[in-house]
Amino acid sequence: MLSKEQPSPIPYRFFFPFIQSVLYASKLTLSELLLLCRRELKIREVRGTNLYVVRSRLHKLGFINVSDISSYVYCPRRFWYMYRLLGDEVKGVIICDRYQLRRLLVGTYAHLCFRNFVNYLTSKLRSLGADPHLYTEDELYDYEYGLAGHVDLVYVDPHEDYAVVYELKSSYRRRVHDTYIAQVLSYCYLVEKAKDVVVDRGYIVNCSGMWRIPYAGDERSLIRDLLKEVRRCIIKDEPPSEEESARVENINKCRVCGFRCICLQDLETEKKLRSRLVEEFPEIRRVLRR
Ligand code: SF4
Repeated sequence: MLSKEQPSPIPYRFFFPFIQSVLYASKLTLSELLLLCRRELKIREVRGTNLYVVRSRLHKLGFINVSDISSYVYCPRRFWYMYRLLGDEVKGVIICDRYQLRRLLVGTYAHLCFRNFVNYLTSKLRSLGADPHLYTEDELYDYEYGLAGHVDLVYVDPHEDYAVVYELKSSYRRRVHDTYIAQVLSYCYLVEKAKDVVVDRGYIVNCSGMWRIPYAGDERSLIRDLLKEVRRCIIKDEPPSEEESARVENINKCRVCGFRCICLQDLETEKKLRSRLVEEFPEIRRVLRR
């Protein structure tokens, strides 16, 4: 299904500024990253839990962010914790652990640098009368399934009028996981719906290479079914059962999951920790408003 050899309209070297930014940001401490991304993200540590609260405007508006689709594919239970741990009354925040926060900050910083690079390049080319047919970081919406997200890069072919979607990841993995595939296909779906253009394929680009992801067959209905599943998960009052979680399918995933301090407990301890977080929320809300 996947191939590294398929020609891409944009060569891999075009993404070097992104990779360099990842390399630079990966060497920074968490405090330095927090400082660099302070305008982009509002973050608050929940004392004594190793968890962080991040404000999300799209969640507040009731949208599912495309990047959260990969969290669901990773583990439905973790996805539920991210959205619902603070209870029903709290909207517009997500919870993440230290590991997820670091990845989020490195990715945010690298995306910011890349966006500046593409915007500079495209405006220069346009001032010279050339159109590079590239679009970056548009906030797109699908009102049918309540999906929204910032697409990293879209190339629209000027002759055949099809689009190619690029999803940049700050990882070094030499193979693509289901989580990334679900994410890039969701972006293809979103671009097609929001921009009224036929998407032919997507690419995952990371620090090790570029992979072609076809978007020509069953992928559209696959994404629609996934979105329905995600919506069903969000309205649940309790987390998905153990059988539905990564703990059964692949316990290795739990080793790097910050929610294991809640999830791998007995039901009573888990509920206690959840209510403690809800009690702490007024303070978190006050800080996030600043
Ligand atoms: S500890 Fe494992 S099962 Fe629990 S939320 Fe994390 S990944 Fe999922």
